[in-house]
Amino acid sequence: MSTSPLLETRSPLDDIAPLIGHTPMLEIEFTWKGRSRRIYAKYELENMTGSIKDRMAELILRRAYASGELKPGDTIVEASSGNTGISFAAIGRALGHPVRIYMPNWMSQERVRLIQSFGADIVPVSSEQGGFVGAIRMADEYATKHENVFLPRQFDNPANVEAHYCSTGPEIERQLEQFGVQADGFVAGVGTGGTVMGVGRYLRRNGRRVHVHPLEPANSPTLRTGCKVGSHRIQGISDEFIPSVVKLDELDEVVDIWDGDAILLAQELCERNGLAVGISSGANFLGAVKVLERLEANKRDPVVVTVFPDSNKKYLSTDLCRREPAGEDYLAPQIRLQRFRAVR
Ligand code: PMP
Repeated sequence: MSTSPLLETRSPLDDIAPLIGHTPMLEIEFTWKGRSRRIYAKYELENMTGSIKDRMAELILRRAYASGELKPGDTIVEASSGNTGISFAAIGRALGHPVRIYMPNWMSQERVRLIQSFGADIVPVSSEQGGFVGAIRMADEYATKHENVFLPRQFDNPANVEAHYCSTGPEIERQLEQFGVQADGFVAGVGTGGTVMGVGRYLRRNGRRVHVHPLEPANSPTLRTGCKVGSHRIQGISDEFIPSVVKLDELDEVVDIWDGDAILLAQELCERNGLAVGISSGANFLGAVKVLERLEANKRDPVVVTVFPDSNKKYLSTDLCRREPAGEDYLAPQIRLQRFRAVR
């Protein structure tokens, strides 16, 4: 018998939930510096709208229905650089809500069209209007001026972290068991930070020493500087400020990856292994390689896990589908991908 009041009450999200999460885990072999190695990655492309953000959108909406903060017919209003907007647009529409997304105007056209295809309204926000921070402010202002608005506030909402604590984390642990291993390290690019915080806390919940590293673009460090410096091409991460759900004092060192290096590795995953992933997946793979190297100093064959947050389909008009020149200190040209194995 269930003891959770949330589980006892039927939620409108129950009908949609089977389409979200339960993604495959990949064990990818590669050679680097003359040795065969492997990393593990969750294949998040398989979610309902093709990204990891469906997990967070589902739990935020589930919690908001349960608390009465979200009622049938309310307008869902969120600031997003893309995937979150797509998740709320699709799930929101499935539940009959109007959806309004404030989005920086430099994001890929595929993202804009996808959100519009779900019948959601997009409000483009220029850098003169404040970019991402401006988008959040404008979403808040809309909510103060209009009735029946629900603001998910992904950067501050604890249900964002909880989504990964309750789903991504347990899936990772169970699937690693199928490979007969346990995680020593986890690394993930930080957008809201929900993934790195939620999975990290879950893997460490029994006091096990698991190294949990946030990742950001080397071209545009935010976590290490506290504000936005420069620009980068890893859409979905490093959104101009440190979100409140990110607790840097709980995490290990920040890993930085060049955006061109991430593009090259994402291209390799697609060309060599048929894994059609987005740019942040390339960054996460390289982050896992860096953490692997660090942990190898103290342990033989450490197990490092990451996520492939989305597919290449939203980047067909971007540099992901152009020839990318290799930088001098890039890792991707040194890595030779071998076979991979997937489990459910
Ligand atoms: N990669 C992509 C493509 C994303 O859209 C996001 C979310 N914005 C992330 C990585 C980072 O995920 P999180 O928000 O959980 O930190």
